[in-house]
Amino acid sequence: MFDLEKVREDFPILARKVYDRPLVYLDNAATTQKPRQVVEAMVDEYYNVNANVHRGVHYLSQQATDLHEASRERVRAFIHARSTSEIVFTRGTTEAINLLAYSFGEALVHEGDEIVVSTMEHHSNIVPWQMLCQRKGARLKVIPMREDGALDLEAYASLLTARTRLVSCTQVSNVLGEVNPVEEIVRIAHEHGVPVLVDAAQSVPHIEVDVQQMDCDFLAFSGHKVYGPTGVGVLYGKETWLDRLPPYQGGGEMIQTVTFEKTTFNGLPYKFEAGTPDYVATHALACALDYVTALGIENIHEHERQLTQYALEQMRQVEGLHIFGTPQAAVISFQVQRGGHIIHHLDMGTLLDRLGIAVRTGHHCAEPLMHRLGIEGTVRASFALYNTRKEVDALVAGIRRVAQMF
Ligand code: PMP
Repeated sequence: MFDLEKVREDFPILARKVYDRPLVYLDNAATTQKPRQVVEAMVDEYYNVNANVHRGVHYLSQQATDLHEASRERVRAFIHARSTSEIVFTRGTTEAINLLAYSFGEALVHEGDEIVVSTMEHHSNIVPWQMLCQRKGARLKVIPMREDGALDLEAYASLLTARTRLVSCTQVSNVLGEVNPVEEIVRIAHEHGVPVLVDAAQSVPHIEVDVQQMDCDFLAFSGHKVYGPTGVGVLYGKETWLDRLPPYQGGGEMIQTVTFEKTTFNGLPYKFEAGTPDYVATHALACALDYVTALGIENIHEHERQLTQYALEQMRQVEGLHIFGTPQAAVISFQVQRGGHIIHHLDMGTLLDRLGIAVRTGHHCAEPLMHRLGIEGTVRASFALYNTRKEVDALVAGIRRVAQMF
């Protein structure tokens, strides 16, 4: 599919050692490592292009603006949006959701209205809606989850009422690796005339995302989880929706004219982009998307699918190891039991770290899901395009070694 060893050379950090051991980086759901192509694009832009965008008549400003706007087009093509007017740059998924919760909420949510989220949401897709509900006297409703980790779609359909204003749901769970049937979720919501926001933070790096095919009304993702830099993300919104919504923050860029009496706002997408954007990061994000596209998102998906399958097979052979849900994406959450006791996730994570293996432990910013599972936390291994079977072997050997200590 692609030359894994060659690809790994693009990521210098993968060659480093921790505690004098080769780094095995399996915390990709938290953030991915960056290829040279992305880092070098940032260095090059700061060294050779840097100027503020949109406002300058001079050469550098125009060049920086061209790079920034070309990145918007790159994002549009990557998620198959109709128009660049539908691509709003944000700081990340969290800011994209807060933007929508504020803007949509101010305009369209009133006392007694309802917002629907799912059991397996990241806090970023719960708290902004909760805050909105508190501001407006609205109600947060939750799609339940079945024992196998799938959302209960029948229960979901029955949650929707004439007061439902929006459904916001993750496409891939950052804890369970569950891939939710977002097209179906959107279809059911649309039958009730309700728009849907898809949290694509964990799907964009792994599977082809096509907003038109999904027919979602809004979608959010973060650059840093798809091999791009931190500090940049995207809110996609159908033009017909974004047109109806008020701005989120006020400031430069988002205005047309300002007097002390009145301000008129810029058109889409700038209406939602107050202040100087992180134009270096947007360009670097485009480079990251180019990198992914050059390898082929289908190839990345297939590589990660095989790796996840392999990891599941190996991990299931470890005595006392329990896997949560039914992982279908490159995320595996687990606990290990020894001598009738569960090895605390923090102990497992800390001891694996000493072996050079970076995993995440805890509630993974999904405390309500932990409550549903009746646990405090898990150990989570998450894979990216550059992970290998050898690294999975190292993880499994590490888990066995830690387990023997207990
Ligand atoms: N949603 C999901 C499903 C996530 O996994 C994450 C990051 N862990 C977020 C939202 C928040 O992303 P960010 O911190 O980049 O804004």
